[in-house]
Amino acid sequence: MAESITLPERVLAAIALHRQASGDPMAAFFYDLPALDAQGRAMQAALPPGVELYYAIKANSEAAIIDTLAPHVDGLELSSGGEIARACACATPRPWVLSGPGKLDADMYDAMTRGVEAFHVESLGEVARLQAVAASLERVQPVLLRINPALPEDLSSRLRMAGTATPFGIDEAQLADAVRAVDDAANLRLVGFHVHAMSHQACERRHQRLLDAYLARWPRWRGLARHPEAVTQLNVGGGIGVNYLRPSEQFDWAGLCEALGQRLATMREPPRVRFEIGRFLAAFCGYYAIEVLDTKVSHGEGFLVCRGGTHQFRLPAAQGHDHPIIHLPRDPERARAGERRPWTVVGQLCTPKDVLSRRQALSGVAVGDLLVLPLAGAYGYNISHADFLCHPRPEQVFVGDSRNTREGSEPETRRRRPAEPVR
Ligand SMILES: *Cc1c(COP(=O)(O)O)cnc(C)c1O
Repeated sequence: MAESITLPERVLAAIALHRQASGDPMAAFFYDLPALDAQGRAMQAALPPGVELYYAIKANSEAAIIDTLAPHVDGLELSSGGEIARACACATPRPWVLSGPGKLDADMYDAMTRGVEAFHVESLGEVARLQAVAASLERVQPVLLRINPALPEDLSSRLRMAGTATPFGIDEAQLADAVRAVDDAANLRLVGFHVHAMSHQACERRHQRLLDAYLARWPRWRGLARHPEAVTQLNVGGGIGVNYLRPSEQFDWAGLCEALGQRLATMREPPRVRFEIGRFLAAFCGYYAIEVLDTKVSHGEGFLVCRGGTHQFRLPAAQGHDHPIIHLPRDPERARAGERRPWTVVGQLCTPKDVLSRRQALSGVAVGDLLVLPLAGAYGYNISHADFLCHPRPEQVFVGDSRNTREGSEPETRRRRPAEPVR
């Protein structure tokens, strides 16, 4: 059973307003922008001197989210032409890098003409294609090589992106060849290395040991280059985990930063270290609120059938976890007096996989009550298969959106109409 979380007042108020305005039972996302702002500010403030923080926008690329984080981060990490378009529309322009596997020539071209800072190159094939695009534009393009390092088993987290067979980056054994290929490419300039090896890292000590392992190899990696003095950047990726089941126990970001700062201070020629964080920046601000449509018991198990489901919030199904549930009864008195029993929370899809959380103990649940799933700001709606079964897309509500607030007035809550399905 997950512990309880309290909802911020402004989120509660936005949910109530939204509910009044919606005719049908509701399913919608609420993003607490002041909380997001505070998270960005706190993460930035904890960084050791000289260490940079980029936002990996694939975690949540809504304009209000990027605009809120932009003032607190040193730049954005992008992985597609679509993400380039979103970043370039940002109210506070930031430097940005293009990474990820399977870059199109058109994306490379687009990135160079729209001011990309650097590319994270994933393979020898990409080195050749990037050289051709840079040559066609007669420019010299800074690149970082993404490394798939060999890693000790005990440093592995739940989702490995490296140290094993993956489509990402260049195996350490082939790194010398890749460095030579970049050095030989007339229009490319090697400025550093990139490693994004783990996802869902829960433990700051282990993450520090992982960073230590990269830093120990840094002189060797750098020594492969024809001009090592020009190779100055080490991008250590993202991958800081969120504890979905015990929301009060979260990764000690400040502790990690402090240990990293101490470690860098011992190095003779430390690299310029950069993080590119997605989940840990964006997760905490999001809430998915759904209305109970039906209650039933089948073979002894209680089910709450709710508006929406995993086609709008795929995260718990993708992670295989039981998401924490906050119960907002229509009638709190009745709910307190009602029976407490375990409920499995499901959505409207005709598949047994449409499960958001299993066997959550709740008291006096009734049709018309709301359930709120917190920690929904990263990899929530945007990784979901929203058109499955032709349900309408959920609305996204940005609470405390100051972007269009006139001076002296309260920040507005901006609602974003669901996007038309992409055909
Ligand atoms: C997804 C991704 C990130 C961000 O990962 P989080 O776990 O969201 O912090 C950073 N870098 C690369 C290359 C990625 O693919």
